[in-house]
Amino acid sequence: MSNTRNRFDHINHRIEQAFNNSGRSLTDPVTLLAVSKHHSLDKIQALYDLGQRDFGESYLQEAMEKISQSPYSDIIWHFIGPIQSNKTKDIAQHFQWVHSVDRIKIARRLSSQNSGTSPLNICLQINISQEPQKSGFSHNEIFAVMEEIIKLPNLAIRGLMTIPAPSNDFTRQKVAFCQLRELMQQLNQQFELNMDTLSMGMSNDLEAAITEGATIVRIGTALFGPRED
Ligand SMILES: *Cc1c(COP(=O)(O)O)cnc(C)c1O
Repeated sequence: MSNTRNRFDHINHRIEQAFNNSGRSLTDPVTLLAVSKHHSLDKIQALYDLGQRDFGESYLQEAMEKISQSPYSDIIWHFIGPIQSNKTKDIAQHFQWVHSVDRIKIARRLSSQNSGTSPLNICLQINISQEPQKSGFSHNEIFAVMEEIIKLPNLAIRGLMTIPAPSNDFTRQKVAFCQLRELMQQLNQQFELNMDTLSMGMSNDLEAAITEGATIVRIGTALFGPRED
């Protein structure tokens, strides 16, 4: 398990360095979301023992098995994968956060099917690089549906999430993340909201994302090693 510890320390170090270099205010820190898709509960437990509490899953069936077997009641489970509309009930019941809300229909269903005592934390997924096959609201779509989304009960609209077109160029990476930050500012202003979450940055681009204001980075490979799939 020393491998796990080394990776965990290394990622936390990268996050801390990027944060310090960015000159950001200490009042909105960065949360590390450990993306455990295709990794076993054993590996989740190893990270839990090191203090990790936020875990992200993309595949509902796999996630529900791990959640039901997990002995820990204080893990915060985040759903980050593609959402089929017939799966929203299970998602609303098992997860505290959903990062991948990409259609108004999904938001409506999560709202009506959340029978828990607290609102479900929601990020709206934005197709920031405007790639044809990628899911997420476009810039125009999000302005068109926001009024309806914020009226839905049982949801806390926390912010925006994006998976930009991959790039190894730091400047290019920053452009997409900067666009997401500016979009959240515009939406907050126009609709008088207090969204506080930018879910952006993965193993390859977390530094650029943190420089541009990420509050949650979603890290899989750099934390767990290659996926067992
Ligand atoms: C798998 C996945 C990640 C983690 O990506 P890595 O490159 O392995 O860090 C982050 N976000 C989403 C939505 C994912 O599906």
